[in-house]
Amino acid sequence: MAEWEPVLLANVHRPNSEKIGTYLAHGGYQALRKALSMSPEAVVAEVKASGLRGRGGAGFPTGVKWGFLPPDAPVKYLAVNTDEGEPGTFKDRLIVERDPHAILEGVIIAAYAIGAHRAFVYIRGEFFLGVKRWIKAIADAYQHGFLGKDILGSGFDLDVSVHRGAGAYICGEETAMLESLEGKRGQPRLKPPYPAQVGLWGRPTIVQNVETLANVPHIILRGAAWYASIGTEQSKGPKIFCVSGHVNRPGNYELPLGTPLREIIEKYAGGVRYGRHIKAVIPGGVSTPMLTARQIDVPMAFETLAAAGSALGTGAVIVMDETTDMVEVARRITDFFVHESCGACVPCRLGGFRMLERLEAIARGRGRPDDLAKLESLARGISGLTFCPLGTGMCEPVLSGLALYRDEFVARLNTAAKR
Ligand code: SF4
Repeated sequence: MAEWEPVLLANVHRPNSEKIGTYLAHGGYQALRKALSMSPEAVVAEVKASGLRGRGGAGFPTGVKWGFLPPDAPVKYLAVNTDEGEPGTFKDRLIVERDPHAILEGVIIAAYAIGAHRAFVYIRGEFFLGVKRWIKAIADAYQHGFLGKDILGSGFDLDVSVHRGAGAYICGEETAMLESLEGKRGQPRLKPPYPAQVGLWGRPTIVQNVETLANVPHIILRGAAWYASIGTEQSKGPKIFCVSGHVNRPGNYELPLGTPLREIIEKYAGGVRYGRHIKAVIPGGVSTPMLTARQIDVPMAFETLAAAGSALGTGAVIVMDETTDMVEVARRITDFFVHESCGACVPCRLGGFRMLERLEAIARGRGRPDDLAKLESLARGISGLTFCPLGTGMCEPVLSGLALYRDEFVARLNTAAKR
């Protein structure tokens, strides 16, 4: 395959890439001009035809989601999810800090397509620079006539504002984010109804991830056929893969969906450090099941990772070498989820805590012979039975760790038995 020329990350390494002048000098806001010359329905149809799927983790087809909005609703909203909190994921932050206008252009086009005149940016509280960049980009866009009344003489009005979260992982879940935006405690809502029907303050709302929106201007400018020619049958377009862990060159790599995991690790991230071997890889953020070294020829696409027993998630690839303690991996990830549980439902709140108790005992060499069976039983009593996906995500590393590296867990139990 020919070397991939970045699309989403084309600007991020330019000097002053965050400034509107730099963005305009490299073709910025041309897609907006084109979109405003089309009908909103045509914009939705173009995004639908491109095959773009959400990049926040769920992978729902973007154009299809836009089509769910009731057409006759008098007020609709767009909410932009910049709450990126999945461990191992750091792509949205890069775009927000280095190329905020690329997202903002996508926001304006999306709002025009769905008929929203108000958009809310929700950003994770710790992203101090990102907050500043969002606010500055929005202010500059108003000055240039890309926001406000009668945008570029089209008759379309849009106002955008920025709202900071307080760093709760659960507020990356779309309905918890809406609760937080409304000024309430960030806890998920029951679905259905989905936000496209009943969202912010009861109004139909489209919630979209930053990377997803950054794709939209390219689809409008270059066309759905161009976009759909990239990737695999069910996973279209470019994707930013965040590679971290025991590799020589951790970082963000933009490549077509369907690029083999091995190529991302070995060719782009420089392979495993110190010449060691891969032991395990988390392919899509810590709530996705682990893969072994034998599985890394899998193409990084929604359908192929599902067939391999895992998920594309956010595209956050965490590489672990042969020195990694897999019991400690399961313990740490569970500790994270227990800390981030919003506490609204019992399986997640209590079950997660019980799993962590057992994992801490095993990690300290104080595990009991029946602990592995207990862990599996607890995980099965949580996975798929919680109010939101956090509970299920919490169980994936434990269940896949036990399935793939059981001998390590057993060895720890044996240590305890010998005392
Ligand atoms: Fe809250 Fe966890 Fe239940 Fe989700 S699964 S609603 S985070 S307690």
